[in-house]
Amino acid sequence: MKKYVHIILAISFVATTSSLEAQSDFASQYKIQMEKINKEVKIKLAEMKAFSSISNYNLSLESEITENFTNESKVFCNWPVNGELTSGYGYRKDPFTSRRVFHNGLDLSVSLGTPVYATAKGKVKKTGQNKISGKYIIISHEQEYESIYCHLSKITIKKGECVLNETLIGYSGNTGRSTGPHLHFEIRKNGKSINPFSIIN
Ligand SMILES: [Zn+2]
Repeated sequence: MKKYVHIILAISFVATTSSLEAQSDFASQYKIQMEKINKEVKIKLAEMKAFSSISNYNLSLESEITENFTNESKVFCNWPVNGELTSGYGYRKDPFTSRRVFHNGLDLSVSLGTPVYATAKGKVKKTGQNKISGKYIIISHEQEYESIYCHLSKITIKKGECVLNETLIGYSGNTGRSTGPHLHFEIRKNGKSINPFSIIN
């Protein structure tokens, strides 16, 4: 009987020891695994950080490009009418006096009563009529730009009104100092006329 007890004790001792060893082995394996995971997480985090800084750089670059594009090309979106260019921007012989004078806009030949559209979003600065320009509209746009539309037969907007590009603002005519139905279209930047072809595609 004693012999059996010894054997059982011996077996349970071995079993306990091996179980403890297994536990400690498991613990060390667990520790190794956790260290490995931590290391991988750290690498992933570093990669994500690097990627996000690249993305941020790309995003800021992209917005910079978009901003520049907006600044220079996107203010004016469309032409006021689809007409034939009969007189360009620059020096020309005045049709009334035959003297060499500077033409500060474009003359676009269109039939009487053709719809005229705003060329960019903005606010109507002035509408009026005089002997030279006939019925005219001046619209203020962002970045100190202005667009001017002359010789109109009818004006359909009022001073202070906001417009978008392609908003109907009036109809072409032959009012003022004009040799025939056409639209005189002008763009000014800081009060100085510029060639509309340099800003509208
Ligand atoms: Zn003109």
